Amino acid sequence: MDKVCNFCGHAHFRHRQVQYIYRHAGKYLIVNQVPCEECEYCGEQYFAAPVLRKIEAEFHAIHVVGRPPTHSISVPVEEYAHAPGNR
Ligand SMILES: [Zn+2]
Repeated sequence: MDKVCNFCGHAHFRHRQVQYIYRHAGKYLIVNQVPCEECEYCGEQYFAAPVLRKIEAEFHAIHVVGRPPTHSISVPVEEYAHAPGNR
């Protein structure tokens, strides 16, 4: 591979499957086992354009069209200032 990492400049990547959290207009979609290439030095992850388009299409299908997702989770939300232990 000829490309180099935009962040650290190294040229060694490994193929991985990771969890991708897509966020748009206050809504979220978590997609598991998304293929990416990860910089072996700094860990920056790079996703191919067709992969991102597929995730966007999935987001649209679920949040706009109303197709049920495979499953859902509920996620706690906290304000940092209200969290204990930060004084
Ligand atoms: Zn890097």
